[in-house]
Amino acid sequence: MKKILTLILLISFPALAKSQVTIDYYLPEEIIYNSSIPAPKQFFGHEIGEWHLSPDKLYSYILELAKVSERAIWEEYAKSYEGRPLGQLIISSPENIKNIEQLRQEHLILCDPSRSDKSDVTKMPVFIKLGYGIHGNESSAQNASVLVAYYLIAGEGKEIDELLKNAVILIDPALNPDGMQRHSTWVNFTRSLNNNPDPASWEFNETWPGGRTNHYWFDLNRDYLMLQQPESKGRVAAFHKWKPNINTDHHETGAGETFFFQPGIKSRNNPLTPQENYELTAEIGKYHEKYLNSIGSLYYTEESFDDFYIGKGSSYPDIHGSVGILFEQAGVKGHLRETPGSVLSFPFAIRNQFIVSLSTLEAGLNMKNKLLENQRNFYKEALILANKHPVRAYIFSEPSDNSRVSEFINILMQHRIKVFGTSADITKNGVLYKAGNSYIVPLKQTEYRFIRSLFEPVMEFTDSAFYDISTWNLPMSFNLNYSGLTLAKEIDGLIGSEITSPPTTSGQLVSPGDPYAFLFEWREYYSPKALFLLQKTGLKTRVSMESFVYDDGVLKKSFSAGTIVIPASGQAISGQELKSLMEKTAKECNIPIYGAGTGLTTEGIDLGSNRIVILSKPSVAMVTGEGANSADAGEIWHLLDTRFTVPVTMITAQRFSTADLKRYNVLIITGSPDISPAGLDNIRAWNRSGGILIGYEGGNRWLARNKFAEIEFIEETGDGKEDGIYINRAADRQVRQIPGSIFETHLDLTHPLCFGYTRDILPVFKSTSTAVKKVADIYNNPVQYTEDPLLSGYCTVKNINRIKGTSFASVHENRVISFYDNTNFRAIWYGTNKIFLNAIFFGQVIR
Ligand SMILES: [Zn+2]
Repeated sequence: MKKILTLILLISFPALAKSQVTIDYYLPEEIIYNSSIPAPKQFFGHEIGEWHLSPDKLYSYILELAKVSERAIWEEYAKSYEGRPLGQLIISSPENIKNIEQLRQEHLILCDPSRSDKSDVTKMPVFIKLGYGIHGNESSAQNASVLVAYYLIAGEGKEIDELLKNAVILIDPALNPDGMQRHSTWVNFTRSLNNNPDPASWEFNETWPGGRTNHYWFDLNRDYLMLQQPESKGRVAAFHKWKPNINTDHHETGAGETFFFQPGIKSRNNPLTPQENYELTAEIGKYHEKYLNSIGSLYYTEESFDDFYIGKGSSYPDIHGSVGILFEQAGVKGHLRETPGSVLSFPFAIRNQFIVSLSTLEAGLNMKNKLLENQRNFYKEALILANKHPVRAYIFSEPSDNSRVSEFINILMQHRIKVFGTSADITKNGVLYKAGNSYIVPLKQTEYRFIRSLFEPVMEFTDSAFYDISTWNLPMSFNLNYSGLTLAKEIDGLIGSEITSPPTTSGQLVSPGDPYAFLFEWREYYSPKALFLLQKTGLKTRVSMESFVYDDGVLKKSFSAGTIVIPASGQAISGQELKSLMEKTAKECNIPIYGAGTGLTTEGIDLGSNRIVILSKPSVAMVTGEGANSADAGEIWHLLDTRFTVPVTMITAQRFSTADLKRYNVLIITGSPDISPAGLDNIRAWNRSGGILIGYEGGNRWLARNKFAEIEFIEETGDGKEDGIYINRAADRQVRQIPGSIFETHLDLTHPLCFGYTRDILPVFKSTSTAVKKVADIYNNPVQYTEDPLLSGYCTVKNINRIKGTSFASVHENRVISFYDNTNFRAIWYGTNKIFLNAIFFGQVIR
């Protein structure tokens, strides 16, 4: 019999919105709270909503609840970059908590079609995950989590007992503690004791880059798919460990808005998400409707936000048999703030987040069996759909670069996708996939839908507007050879054994006894790290501008342009020390380094040639702070710091008039920094004396405006419409956007910006509509969009025509290098990182 509980709704809530409140303002009135559980005020010394909790305060309280209650345990799943713990407070009845591991194991069986038929869902609890504040400055979310935890742990009575008996609730109280730390510090230190609601106040004007993002300024609510940040790696592992049936994602939006809950825009749902998901979301929405009615808050659904991009907290669950729900509350970004038509208080925002947490729990309880059934059916259906799908499997390889393949497989495995080796050679579309260094992903597995979303190029859309990007083809972002296999006979005998950990090759020194020089190729992902580590020790390093073939009877190998050459003579350390250093570097960077016994080659330039050019160690500065683009700058900082050990000196615009730029040989500009005339003169003098200036995305408009380079932008000319109606205004504008699509470029493999690439075709990511003419020097447009460039994603024919044949990157006079689009997008574009790194390491040798 279906049990409908309307328990919580019967309880009334006090209605007044105030800037400073007592806990009764938030909590249902009729519930008795266990006095042995510390209430928030008792613990913090202030009421929730009076000040912003810092993550450490919040964390201490959550840990205290786990300590004093038999209803809860704390499970840590990751540490942020700044060392803050991330985890979830697992709440259920004391009996369930005692048997939690068994309940979890039984729950996971629902996701395994080979075993799930026997499960009796009526006897199983529902798993509900409540996630708060992935954007660190959306504080009503994290502050509400404390109230939800207190309510569930201290609340007494049969309604709460019934809920806890039938549900396992996972509270993730602060999804981005590093960003939350920045924001809470900001709004607390600017708060007046008498709250000042004037919207012009400094309190509401958080300093660059704000608390939305994590330590390296990444939007964590885009990283569920990419998994390049520790917060998401841990979170996705926790998702698969518990496979919750509902996942809430509590956010904030503009201060003047009303409350939003999903479902979002129907036409913009991801087509791989089952229709049932949308229906369940709408049914759960009826509970939010009731609860928000009870406190009289304004709300809306279906008009905005979408779940097309599946790497967000509310969409990743949707494609994994769960239901993700996005909430958007008007953000105070302070404590009390005038908005058009009202005064918005922090407690009011917290209360809305709290109330939709309760409505979610009631929905989960009443829809328990339906949600568990949905999960079971989702995975059973995956195998049935896979049988009907024309593609049987995807094969991929990149024999020239093990680290890139390894990271690609690492991501697939974290998403619980099964990857296999191959046991035979196969040629597809002119590419030979050799057994031993090729891999295969069969579609017939439980992650069928997710695999399709990662591997299939998408060219058709039911809507032309996107809340986020329109494509995220993973093999393209890694620049891998890959192909779909459609015939059963192609697969027959091809699938080898399952890969149980990402493949590693131990880097090593391949050396004769007494090398004349050491050599390594530039095509490995971590070659730049090896070069930088060697340069840091003071070694003299060179780069080969041309390819050559070496054969001294011991070592026989052809080397491409971009090969790094380290002569044994003329170094400050002994031959033996040099050899040990090479060994250590090869291991650390997972690359082969070769010792060459003599200077003469058998083909091409010799090792002592003047075409093997001396390099200086890069010393990198980047404009940071107000005016810079924090996403671009953060991706660059993250790339250089976490993967290549290259320090980046971050300099604010104001410092340029006095900064000693001689310390650097590379300066990167993103966004549009406001640098004074004296600062510009300083940069000009530095550039004239040999400094390399890199314009990145929007930074190129800045370069052009300040006459560092002549850049000819091809401006948009509208959509040609001569008439329109008012209601279509926003939609017509969106049709013309490039929301994040993948295009094909052609590389000049002889140009230093393209060193390390083995194929002259490269997929790139483009998320702006910028198009730029090639520079007049015909030898310095090394990366150009091809004539038929769209590979995957949305783009109008008009925009395709505007982009084709234009430059992705070009080199101007006076050592100014432009990247018009993003080479480091969301840290996932391993395939284009190298062009950017080449500007840093080889910009000095481009003439
Ligand atoms: Zn948000």
